[in-house]
Amino acid sequence: MDQSQIDALRTQPVLPFNHLINGRHVGASDGARMEVLSPIDGRVLTSVAKGTVADMETAIASAREAFEDRRWAGQPPAARKNVLMKWAQLIEENALELAVLGVRDNGTEIGMAIKAEPGSAAATIRYYAEALDKIYGEIASTPTDVLGLIHKEPVGVVGAITPWNFPLMIGAWKLGPALAMGNSVVLKPAETASLSLMRMAELALEAGLPPGVLNAVTGEGAVVGETMGLSMDVDVLVFTGSGGTGRRLMEYSARSNMKRVYLELGGKSPNIVFADAPNLLEAANVAAAGIFRNSGQFCVAGSRLLVEATIHDEFVAEVVKATSAMRVGDPLRLDTHIGAVNSETQLLANIGFVETAIAEGGQVVYGGERMLQETGGYYMTPTIVTDVKADATLTQKEVFGPVLGVTSFETEDEAVRLANATVYGLAGGVWTSNLSRAHRMVRNVRTGVMHVNTYGGADGTVPLGGVGQSGNGSDKSLHAIEKYINLKTAWIKL
Ligand code: ADP
Repeated sequence: MDQSQIDALRTQPVLPFNHLINGRHVGASDGARMEVLSPIDGRVLTSVAKGTVADMETAIASAREAFEDRRWAGQPPAARKNVLMKWAQLIEENALELAVLGVRDNGTEIGMAIKAEPGSAAATIRYYAEALDKIYGEIASTPTDVLGLIHKEPVGVVGAITPWNFPLMIGAWKLGPALAMGNSVVLKPAETASLSLMRMAELALEAGLPPGVLNAVTGEGAVVGETMGLSMDVDVLVFTGSGGTGRRLMEYSARSNMKRVYLELGGKSPNIVFADAPNLLEAANVAAAGIFRNSGQFCVAGSRLLVEATIHDEFVAEVVKATSAMRVGDPLRLDTHIGAVNSETQLLANIGFVETAIAEGGQVVYGGERMLQETGGYYMTPTIVTDVKADATLTQKEVFGPVLGVTSFETEDEAVRLANATVYGLAGGVWTSNLSRAHRMVRNVRTGVMHVNTYGGADGTVPLGGVGQSGNGSDKSLHAIEKYINLKTAWIKL
């Protein structure tokens, strides 16, 4: 991929998108549409169907019918595997188009998007395609006069609600295992990043997925997302997004059919640097990348930097240096490190967090401002705030933007206490040359993922899921499959 290929795609008109229901492209039942703004320049990129309650109900009915007649679940595993493998191949063949479309929609820098979006989505789909005929039922250790079989059955209709930061990657984390296990799916992409995911869903049908097995409805979370949450005909809801919406989804479930709800929510992940880190320069560079890439818009972002007091000043200086070398701007340039913030609303919220941090005694040592406003787009300087206290807003609340809070600590115990002093528990990192300390920190910091002498970058072989208010259930790895199956016992008297 080179810059000229990207430039050839950046101004191509984007045709309006419709829902994908029962294999057909259909508009909203009342004809309503939603404009899609590009965060690159704030201009209208295209429009999507603004889904109605009726649209979502039709999509769910279509998924239900597809599940009941077994047009997908009833196919031999090898046939399902072929379709999913073909889908992964089509995603790869269309990788650049998908990545550029996604970047024009959500603002992620293209260098990251090309890997993290179509690249990772194709790998995920392939992983579950390869796994699906290697998953066996079980025979229980019963007395000899009975046979106890444990079948793994698809659950039925899966509702997937996805966020705007990495639509393809996170979409594939849900769609891959759900479809591999024979479920039907209704997908609800995020309002501000639906285009590339809608295109990826179309490719599944081109790969041979039967109509109705994967349906996708665009529109507002409060309308179509709520309808999905309250549906009596959705069996499992899988979600990545904010805690507020996650809470609502659990309420919807309780008020309707008690559908299973799996949530991957936010984090306030601590990146903890001890003075004995093997390479402080590398730690500083990775700490900056670990919060600022994609403008800090990733759930595992290392948004709290905890630094041992003896190296605090020199380490912060290195992080500032690494940050100042990151180029912010046009996300469609390959040499851009930090693209656009997804929406103006998000940008203003980020700035608000910086103002609060200052009011609460934090020192802004780098950034803190909106920039490149003349482009019409939504850009923000990566921002570093030191002297952030344990009870400060910047410690306790997820920004989901390019804002790093720094706090110093004296001892390992204090580092653990600070690390665990939020309601979240998604990810964390520790930098140390002391093997025992590294293992102690992995045990003692309450998160779903701990990185040691690195930050981020885990692949699809390991689970990602939070504890506490960061959610429940895992994406990725074979463990994710548990969300998309029911265990059924057959107790057979011999
Ligand atoms: P953010 O505030 O970062 O946009 P959200 O949790 O609101 O995060 O969005 C994540 C996903 O949840 C999006 O697809 C959005 O449309 C959806 N969503 C938002 N509100 C609701 C709701 N009330 N019910 C169901 N889905 C919702």
